[in-house]
Formats: sequence, C-alpha cells, structure tokens
Amino acid sequence: MGSEAAVTRARRRPRCRLCRFPMVTAREVRKPSQRRVGGRGLCTNCYSHEQHGGRLEDHPRRTRRSDDVLDDAMVYAYRGGMTKHDIARQLGYSRFDSLYQVFRRAGRRDLYGKFKNLTEGVTA
Ligand SMILES: [Zn+2]
Repeated sequence: MGSEAAVTRARRRPRCRLCRFPMVTAREVRKPSQRRVGGRGLCTNCYSHEQHGGRLEDHPRRTRRSDDVLDDAMVYAYRGGMTKHDIARQLGYSRFDSLYQVFRRAGRRDLYGKFKNLTEGVTA
C-alpha cells in the first residue's frame, strides 16, 4: 500500500526539460539519480548552465508572475461586469480562493481591497 503510493509519486515526478533527470524539491532527500528543481522546468545544474550561457530566455517560465496575474485581475475588475469568481476562472483558477492567495502572497492586500470594491456590486 505504502510502496504503491511511492511508485505513483515517483512516476509523477517532473523531469528536467534538458537532461530529463527526475527532479526533487529542495526539501526532499535527493537520490543520486535525481536532480534538484532549478526553475523554468530545469534542474539546478541545467538552470545555472543555461544562465551562464545566456540562454535562460529560451526556457519560458512555467508559472505566471504574480504581478502579471494581479495586473490582469485588476484590468477585468476595472472593466466591470465580472464577479470575482468570473475573474478567477478567466485567469485559470478553478476557485476564487486561489486568486485571493496570489494577492496575499504578493503582499498586495491593498490592491485586493480595490479589487473587492470593484467586483462587490457585480451580480452574476
Ligand atoms: Zn537538467
């Protein structure tokens, strides 16, 4: 039972887009056959190699910067006619709370206040 779960986890491990080694996060114990996550879908080895070679732009970010997400959220909020749930869905979040967490993690509760005011009166 326990080992089955471990196998499932191992299968789902992301692989580095360059060297194809399975990657583990910094908190996990790394086996010799694994590499650490370095960002942009690369392991730390490949990341620094690409960085030094000036090729980091060849590897697009796989997550959107929170600033970009919040910019878009505010554009929709100012445009009007969308509920906070509509906006969250438009930005690819299945739940509004996920969008709220972006505001929170970015330390933009002030911006969230504006967002809330703008979307409050909107009815679905
Ligand atoms: Zn790699």
